[in-house]
Amino acid sequence: MAITVGLALLLLALVALIGALRLRASAGLPWAPVVYRDTDAQSPERPLIARRIGLVGKPDYLIQKRGRLIPVEVKPGRNATRPYESDLMQLAAYCLLLEETTGVAPPYGLLCYADRTFRLSYTAQVRQETLALIEEMRAALDNECDRSHDDPARCLGCGFFSMCDQALRR
Ligand code: SF4
Repeated sequence: MAITVGLALLLLALVALIGALRLRASAGLPWAPVVYRDTDAQSPERPLIARRIGLVGKPDYLIQKRGRLIPVEVKPGRNATRPYESDLMQLAAYCLLLEETTGVAPPYGLLCYADRTFRLSYTAQVRQETLALIEEMRAALDNECDRSHDDPARCLGCGFFSMCDQALRR
């Protein structure tokens, strides 16, 4: 009986290990403990909130490396040789958010595309540029500005279509 229970536990541990390995392989995550995951629809993590700078967000993962938390953003549908600027800014915002909420700045963030992972060093300059961008966005929100209509198909599929006074109507 004890042997059967032991075997069952071993089997469960093996299944969990295979699941963890698959997760890492599919997400492109490095081998490090995952302390936060926003990819599980059943039990989504709470967002990180930095009230002082008015920033809220949920990185896909937080991993721990050498005692430091590292934000990871996963874009499995992207395949590019260089990271998109918008993705880097999103990752930089997560670094800033992490610094504001934990008091410790992450040394870098990771951006995982379909078959490669990019590292963004979280330098003083990146931090400054991110703060400046947040300020710019805040100023834009305070002003009335026209929506971009560069992409009519996107407008037709937009969730605000029925209530938007600038929607492209047929
Ligand atoms: S419906 Fe309004 S908010 Fe949505 S894409 Fe069109 S213009 Fe932009």
